Amino acid sequence: MTIRTIVTVPEAILRRKAQPVTKFDEKLQTLIDDMVETMRAAPGVGLAAPQVAVSQQVIVVEYPLDDEDEEAKPKLFVVVNPQIVKTSPETVNGIEGCLSVPDLVGEVERAEEITVKGQNRRGQPVRIKARGWLARIFQHEIDHLNGVLFTDRATRVWKPEEPVEDNV
Ligand code: ZN
Repeated sequence: MTIRTIVTVPEAILRRKAQPVTKFDEKLQTLIDDMVETMRAAPGVGLAAPQVAVSQQVIVVEYPLDDEDEEAKPKLFVVVNPQIVKTSPETVNGIEGCLSVPDLVGEVERAEEITVKGQNRRGQPVRIKARGWLARIFQHEIDHLNGVLFTDRATRVWKPEEPVEDNV
């Protein structure tokens, strides 16, 4: 596994729509393994392929399924060709930071609960129901696949005094 370089703004690939994955080959397995290692090294709790300069629809997320349970361990999610198929009408504001937008955070309104459909690393269908911070991470990562950055959605953006945790 290799730690890949995380590209930052204004790199053009971050603004491009990522391509759907059609081949679940060795190259994809290597990309996914590298993305997991790169996310952990950053450190971050989510990463989308365009952030490592690959314009393909792949995301990795590592976060507890239930963030209200303090004992819950982070769970690794790998989703290929992810689509949000359901969003709750309830929204919630939160402060996000992004590995590709250094030294900035922003307040972003996101759906509180979502359902994501896609495929796992072997091409089998997966369906994930996420709420709270996990739902926020998925929405942030899927935005990356559409060339959207949190700064596009934020109601305000500022330079934090302390480095932020849980970058995505
Ligand atoms: Zn990001």
